[in-house]
Amino acid sequence: MKTLLRLQDLDLKIEACKAREAEIPNQKSKFNIQRERLRAELEERKKTCTTLELEQRACEGAIDEKGAQIGKYNEQLNSVKKNEEYQALLHEIDLQKKQIGIKEERILAIMEELDEAKARVEEDSKRIDSELKEIDRQCAEIDTELEEAIRHRAELEAQEAPLENDADPVLLKQYKRIRGRLKMGAALVPLLNEVCGGCHMRMLPQVVNEILAGVTMHPCRHCGRLVYSGDHADQESDAGIAPESATD
Ligand SMILES: [Zn+2]
Repeated sequence: MKTLLRLQDLDLKIEACKAREAEIPNQKSKFNIQRERLRAELEERKKTCTTLELEQRACEGAIDEKGAQIGKYNEQLNSVKKNEEYQALLHEIDLQKKQIGIKEERILAIMEELDEAKARVEEDSKRIDSELKEIDRQCAEIDTELEEAIRHRAELEAQEAPLENDADPVLLKQYKRIRGRLKMGAALVPLLNEVCGGCHMRMLPQVVNEILAGVTMHPCRHCGRLVYSGDHADQESDAGIAPESATD
């Protein structure tokens, strides 16, 4: 029983290593999503600046055009004969000047917005940089942890064969069968105050007595795990298994 309990201890540790190994890629993909989100956030901030700069240039271009247009109208003023035409040109010049005024106002507003946006990019770059560094650090940490888990599991797996050789073949077969059915967790469980240490269902009094006497390990009639007496866990393989029919 002692050998088998040691084997189970090993198996449970190997199981924990495998679970950790399986969890790490998920953690890494979460970190990658976080990285992408931070990068996109910074890109978005930079785009705000670019959009403002483009608008500023467009305003400046429009002002130049309107200035040139005013120049042309001024030249035409010298050549028109009719007063109506003269008045119409003055009206057009006035209109262009007003539009230039509007564009100039917009440029002032853009410059202010741009100052704010640039300051924000700088601030966010620093924050995002340090967040990305933290993510890199954590990724490196879990990489090391993964290597460690794989290495540790290999060590544990190497200890299995000698224990299996030492174990009682009948008990070992029974143990493996239960482990195979359970997929994970303990196949050997201690008796806890007359209940099965695996499923916590009450065991029959006669069965409890036999387990406590340390003569046999009994399969629990509810979950099928082998129940042993904690007081006799140190015994070598002299304890057998009660036939399953005895639990019915
Ligand atoms: Zn049980």
